[in-house]
Amino acid sequence: MKKSNLLLVCLFACLGLSAQSFDRYFTDQTLRVDYLFTGNAEHQAICLDELSVLPRWAGRRHHLDELPLAGNGQIVMRDAADSTVIYCTSFSSLFQEWLETEEARQTDRGFENTFLLPYPQRPAVVEITLFDPHRKVRTRMTHTVDPQNILIHQRGLTHITPHRYLLQSGPADRCIDVAILAEGYTSNEMETFYQDARIACESLFGHEPFRSLKDKFNIVAVASPSEDSGVSIPRLNEWKSTAFHSHFSTFYSDRYLTTSRLKSLHDALAGIDYEHIIVLANTDEYGGGGIYNSYTLTTAHHEDFRPVVVHEFGHSFGGLADEYFYDEDIMNDTYPTDVEPWEQNVTTRVDFASKWQDMIPQGTPVPTPAEDFNTHKVGLYEGAAYSSKGLYRASYNCRMRTNEYPAFCPVCQRALRRLITFYTE
Ligand SMILES: [Zn+2]
Repeated sequence: MKKSNLLLVCLFACLGLSAQSFDRYFTDQTLRVDYLFTGNAEHQAICLDELSVLPRWAGRRHHLDELPLAGNGQIVMRDAADSTVIYCTSFSSLFQEWLETEEARQTDRGFENTFLLPYPQRPAVVEITLFDPHRKVRTRMTHTVDPQNILIHQRGLTHITPHRYLLQSGPADRCIDVAILAEGYTSNEMETFYQDARIACESLFGHEPFRSLKDKFNIVAVASPSEDSGVSIPRLNEWKSTAFHSHFSTFYSDRYLTTSRLKSLHDALAGIDYEHIIVLANTDEYGGGGIYNSYTLTTAHHEDFRPVVVHEFGHSFGGLADEYFYDEDIMNDTYPTDVEPWEQNVTTRVDFASKWQDMIPQGTPVPTPAEDFNTHKVGLYEGAAYSSKGLYRASYNCRMRTNEYPAFCPVCQRALRRLITFYTE
């Protein structure tokens, strides 16, 4: 082999799975995969529900074999012929939260989960894994996708939900595409929804790093109509017929507003370019939820709508943990203190070097006493992720801790900036 050819071979090997690889392995379409996560606290399983093809691919075309974050679950797609990893992504799920509840000790349940992958040109093997809080594999499932399979459901060519762009910064393949959906708005209430979606947008881009990286985002508001106005509030015995079947009191926690009908969300989005989902609920009840790489759901008419929608997006887009905690020191297994959590804004100090140790100015006491919070903007404050002991956060206050504080702390900002860069550069 000539020296120059050898150099070229090395160069391509070093490039990894970049844009060239995208065109080699994928078409400009989306493979939507619907799964059912089933089981109980002891045993879990994953079943394939349905495969669909969507008309375009709005996700990244670089860093294809790298994870954005570790997540509570991962999907790895390999070329069936040579086993090369051609795409991977990570997520969290309501099912995994449910596994920690009392109900999961007594009964089996199944939860819908839907993920978007680039559409392979050749048969591909998809492996999906769920981890427990100690990063052990809970369950894993693999299946082969033949792109020629006639039973892959074609969606998004007709019956596209009416929508309006609130921000259009560039083509879908170069921007992060966020869809804002209407939940509990009748067709007569859509102007109210568009107004609410604009407020959500304003609030998001009022926060750094979203403000200075606004040109990396497209935001589309999708007017998905509901039969009834408002959403279901089981505590008040109010049940409504809504587009995405959401309700409060998830796992009997009154403020926890979620939906487990993921397919209905994705059905409403077929034919629209989207990667991240925000659902606005037409109610003034307080509540919401955000699940990493799944969705944000929040109430649009409570006075804390503006901070809450950004907080929840911190979970669903940024994979950030809650920084609040309870003084009564409720210990739970969500964040065991003998492993380093994957969320970038909390630490158990098991592997603090992998977190924000580099951002702490010299001379800062570690742990940092709470009473010194005005002196030390970035430190190591004890109390985070629901626990007052053994879990630490970076700043005294943050959007991920309270609705009153106006900004993300410097560590959350850096984590969000890194993710935005990962998805767009
Ligand atoms: Zn923070």
